[in-house]
Parts: sequence; C-alpha cells; structure tokens
Amino acid sequence: MELPPPLAETIAARLGVRACRSEPLARHTSFRIGGPADLLVVPETVDELAFVLRAASACGATVTMLGGGSNVLVGDGGVRGVVVKLGRGFARVEWHDGEGGAEVRAGAGANLGRLARTAASRGLAGLEHAEGIPGTVGGALFMNAGAYGGDVASAAVAVEGLDGRGELVVLPRAALAFRYRGTALPPRFVVTAVRFALRAEAPDAVRGRLEDVRRRRVASQPHGRANAGSMFKNPAGDHAGRLIDVAGLKGARIGRARISERHANFIVNEGGASAGDVKGLMDLAQRVVWERSGVWLEPEVRFVGSW
Ligand SMILES: Cc1cc2nc3c(=O)[nH]c(=O)nc-3n(C[C@H](O)[C@H](O)[C@H](O)COP(=O)(O)OP(=O)(O)OC[C@H]3O[C@@H](n4cnc5c(N)ncnc54)[C@H](O)[C@@H]3O)c2cc1C
Repeated sequence: MELPPPLAETIAARLGVRACRSEPLARHTSFRIGGPADLLVVPETVDELAFVLRAASACGATVTMLGGGSNVLVGDGGVRGVVVKLGRGFARVEWHDGEGGAEVRAGAGANLGRLARTAASRGLAGLEHAEGIPGTVGGALFMNAGAYGGDVASAAVAVEGLDGRGELVVLPRAALAFRYRGTALPPRFVVTAVRFALRAEAPDAVRGRLEDVRRRRVASQPHGRANAGSMFKNPAGDHAGRLIDVAGLKGARIGRARISERHANFIVNEGGASAGDVKGLMDLAQRVVWERSGVWLEPEVRFVGSW
C-alpha cells in the first residue's frame, strides 16, 4: 500500500533524520540495485521499532524488513510503504559464559561474520560456517543462512522479536520451524535478537575451521563485483551452480548483469545493472535448466518491492 502522508510525518516527528523519504535502496543492498523506498526508517531501540510497527499497522501500511540487504533483489520500482533497517543500537552482543561453553545474545543488527570471528577468538564453536556470509544476525535467522554443512539453526536456541502489533515475544527453539534457507516465523514478526548456544573448544581448532571456510569461499566465489550470493537454492542431491554450468550459461549477460564465470549460481552486477536485468537472467537460467535437466530452480534470493 502507498505511504499515507500523515504516517511519514508521525514517524519523522519521532525518528527525525532517521526517517528518509524516497531513499534509493541500491545504497542498502549488496547488489547495489534497487529503486527508492517510500520511507526508510532506522530505529535504534526496541521502543522506536515498536512505535514504527504500531504506527504503520494503524494505517494499514506495508512494512518491509531489510537487514544487510545481501540476500534481496529490490525491484527497480522501489518499495511502497515503510522499509525498516535496524540501527546500531541493535548490534550489541552479550557473552554469558557457562558450563562447557557460552550463551551469546546477539542483536539482530549485529554483523554475522564478525560475530563468528569473535566467537572463534574466544574459543567458542558453532558459527564457523558463517565466516564470509555478509549481512546481519536478523537476516541470517530469517534465511537460516549457512554453508559447508552448518547453518544458523544448529546454534540458535531462542529468538526475541516484536509481533505485528509491536509486542515483545520470545520464541524458544521448539517454536522455530527451521528449514533449508528459511525459518517459519509468525506473520510480520521482526527479529530483534538471537540467542546462540556455543561450545567451548581450543581457540586454535575453532579458528582453523573458520580459516578453512574462508579459503574455500575465496577459491570458489566471485569477488570484486556486487552480488547477492547464491541466486537459487540447491535442489535435493545436486547444486544449482552445476546445473546452470552444464546448461552452458556461465558468462551469459543481460544488460549489465552477468552469470559469473567463476560460480554459475552467482549473478554479478557489472556496474549499473537493473533488477530487471538480473531477473531476466534468473528467468533464463530457470528455463534453460528446466529444458536441459528437468529441474525447476527455486530462487534463494528474496524479491522485494515493485517491478
Ligand atoms: C558474497 C555473498 C556470499 C553469501 N554467502 C552465503 C552463504 O554461504 N550462505 C547463505 O545462507 N547465504 C549467503 N549469502 C546470502 C546472505 O548473505 C544471507 O542470506 C544473509 O544471512 C542475509 O542477511 P541480511 O541481513 O543481508 O538479510 P537481507 O538480505 O537484508 O534480508 C533477507 C530476508 O530477511 C528478512 N529480514 C532481515 N532482517 C530481519 C529482521 N530483523 N526480522 C525479520 N526479518 C528480517 C528480510 O525481510 C528478507 O526477507 C551470501 C551473500 C553474498 C553477497
């Protein structure tokens, strides 16, 4: 729904310059692609976030959450309503040492890779797979981000957040239905913090595994060009990148977007690509892989906004 003008004024009166009209979302995505948000707001506290959610709900405006913007393709038409990006006030990390390990409470705005590296330096195991995954803890929980055999689900024990009415809710692990690259959260739930249980191990061993993940990533993924990681989920028993590669699509280009020569499940922005260029390449990959291999690739990247 379009942004009702009084809503923008109500939110701006409380958040000041942290409520920006017509903010280009290309500035907030790893793809460097995306049209303007009607209103981008950056709350710094749970109270401010609850205020924004309640104000938007009261007038029926759509709220779209944005973390680090590293798994989204935002349409060239931008996003109607309110886009919420958690501020630095949500990046706090608390470490509670316990028997055989620690419980870590990480704000949803904390950087996932930095959290994994700090955990490793403290000799805490369970997040090594996250080395090199960009974005926030909130986005990683929502996506159940993972790599090289690990994922967020394996270490998360509870999630704190606000429901659609702006009420604080704590979801225990048993209430979180994790799946491959996804978590079933209540509708309109906003993650504000995640609690992880990490095991104590020799710091050198944890750092060694983290370094191994880093080396494998550097060796196999494109660097130096804006992208959003894997475009498609791996189908059962196979790899989307392999299927796109054998379909002969490495290097295929539409406009300024190109299927990476290095890893066929990555699309890179060669500078000035539109969301339409990327979507066109994704449609092409789906069609050609279907014709060649009989597999319909399911997007991993989330489509956001208007096209
Ligand atoms: C170079 C590169 C490598 C990557 N490698 C991997 C990898 O190995 N494994 C992997 O799984 N992913 C990978 N990704 C994808 C991406 O980094 C992850 O999915 C990441 O966890 C997304 O986090 P984000 O904060 O950027 O979320 P965003 O992309 O901003 O958002 C993703 C989704 O989460 C929702 N969301 C974000 N924050 C919240 C919140 N606080 N509450 C509720 N919903 C929220 C958004 O609405 C959106 O639907 C890679 C991306 C890049 C660019």
